[in-house]
Amino acid sequence: MSRARDEAARTLPQLLERHRDRLSACRRCTGLHEAVLPVLSVASAPRVMLVGQAPGKTELSDQKPFAGRAGRTLFQWLARAGVDEATFRERVYIAAVTRCYPGPSPSGRGDRVPSAHEREQCGVWLAEELRIIRPEVLIPVGRLAIERFLPAAPLDALVGRAHVVQHEGGSSLAVPLPHPSGASSWIHAPGHMALLERALDLLGRELGRLGIGASGSIERRGGPPREEIGADASGGGHGDATPATPASRARPSARRTRSVA
Ligand code: SF4
Repeated sequence: MSRARDEAARTLPQLLERHRDRLSACRRCTGLHEAVLPVLSVASAPRVMLVGQAPGKTELSDQKPFAGRAGRTLFQWLARAGVDEATFRERVYIAAVTRCYPGPSPSGRGDRVPSAHEREQCGVWLAEELRIIRPEVLIPVGRLAIERFLPAAPLDALVGRAHVVQHEGGSSLAVPLPHPSGASSWIHAPGHMALLERALDLLGRELGRLGIGASGSIERRGGPPREEIGADASGGGHGDATPATPASRARPSARRTRSVA
């Protein structure tokens, strides 16, 4: 059998297992401590991907994405969208802009933001996952991940809406969430909690449509009004939140994006 046909014959769980084997052996970022290993998702046949920022210290020690305090908040949010943590970990592939703990921030507040070079190097893993999984729904969490898929814009223009985004694996409906780290103050600004609630409602409906979570049996309502935002966008932490940055240099070439809710 030719290599191409051999590839095509592999199932999603087989492709992801092979991908995880390769990713777990990655040591491209030579500046990282040798004990720092990539943190991997366990989902074997996902139709949805969550993309975080970078693992924190707890994720490194537990070797599990979103295992720390930010993860506890995230899974509380997801419970409001009708999905429990165990189901989410099993059914949703949890990726990130970078997969290894970047170490503490030199400022002493939170984790170091992965450099543009690290984001670019690690981006090949995310691009490969997008090609393998071709997710129907994408959940970028936090600014670095949101900037990977959506145009540079204030979070309040992006959170609470669903956006059709193009990426290496085709197109997905993206429902961005703010970073759940306590280091992020965005959530506490007036009106932002309502945007988060709207995002969780959208997410609950989309996950339910795919049979993930409590909304699985709820018939999807007519759907939100469609609205072009007319922006080009590029197509991706579990640790602490990232401060506002200009659109990531690690983003691949521009892709079309439109908001649908
Ligand atoms: S951050 Fe990504 S590219 Fe760098 S060593 Fe870890 S897995 Fe490899």
